[in-house]
Amino acid sequence: MSEADLNKERLELALEAAGLDLWENNLLTGEVTRKANKTFEELGFTEEEIVADVQGIYGLFHPDDLPRVQKAVEDHLSGRTAQYRCEFRLRSKAGEWIWFANYGRIMDGKSTSPGQRLIGVTFNIDDRKRQEVEIAEINRQLTEQNQLLQRLNATLELLAANDSLTGLSNRRTLMELGENECRRAERFGHPLSVMVVDIDLFKMVNDVWGHLAGDRVICAVASACVARTRHGVDTVARFGGEEFVLVLPETDEASALGLAESLRHVIAGQKVTVNEEGAQVSVTVSIGVATLGQGAGLTFEQLVNKADKALYRAKETGRNNVQRCAGK
Ligand code: GH3
Ligand code: MG
Ligand code: MG
Repeated sequence: MSEADLNKERLELALEAAGLDLWENNLLTGEVTRKANKTFEELGFTEEEIVADVQGIYGLFHPDDLPRVQKAVEDHLSGRTAQYRCEFRLRSKAGEWIWFANYGRIMDGKSTSPGQRLIGVTFNIDDRKRQEVEIAEINRQLTEQNQLLQRLNATLELLAANDSLTGLSNRRTLMELGENECRRAERFGHPLSVMVVDIDLFKMVNDVWGHLAGDRVICAVASACVARTRHGVDTVARFGGEEFVLVLPETDEASALGLAESLRHVIAGQKVTVNEEGAQVSVTVSIGVATLGQGAGLTFEQLVNKADKALYRAKETGRNNVQRCAGK
């Protein structure tokens, strides 16, 4: 056996072992000088049915893939790419689409003019592609479910009556309940006071001890507010991050100011354990108080705004103090 024949046998073995199907096209005539028989067999075509020219083969490509394949060929033929590579689907005789890949290069023997022969291999990548498609689909479904969960969570949060950190009434509940209390107080000519409690320089607690420690401080202040109010009569709500609103029915300004002062005092004396090492933090609060005067005709929101203005003055005058609404 000649060395050339031996080399041919070696090449055939290597191609077979690697699952590669060798083909060769004459670029000048468009003729397929070596057909990718194995690929056509995989597609279910008999030897007689195997397409013999490039245009015929193009007819088997998936219409979505064909432009990409043609571009990859053109890029290589015009010298823009060192190799021709692409992935595409071919239609089997039974009408199924199967994924293959091509890897090729213009290779000319010394005797031929340059750019005449395009030689390449085709190999089946259907399993890999199907897995990719499956994974992409799973990812798409996961993203969709995630978005749905986020929307549900947002809705649930909105619908929930209580703040998840402290268990206190949330802002939405407070506004509903407060409005009712306001109308009742107006109707019966009873006093109603509102208190806005805001932790002083709370940002520093977060900055120094961390957000979790900050959460513990918020809970401790919430507990102190609840402990000093009447169960079933007063309402304590978490209004914002480190801000609470207390609704006090049947409470005139003097009583509200007394309560605010004792609350301020208790909180200032409290030591909150903020981490597993037992570190303790103390905070103070500033409090604004507003009382619904007879015949004032205020909405609950307006009453809270008045208390909030008083709180602002408490902050301005050095924090850790109580201020009442000035213009009654
Ligand atoms: P001031 O005395 O003027 O009220 O100063 P402050 O630092 O308390 O006020 P500021 O409004 O600047 O900061 C409030 C901080 O509260 C900022 C925000 O990061 C923090 N915060 C809001 N909600 C939460 C929460 O749920 N947990 C924790 N740990 N921090 C929160
Ligand atoms: Mg604050
Ligand atoms: Mg605040």
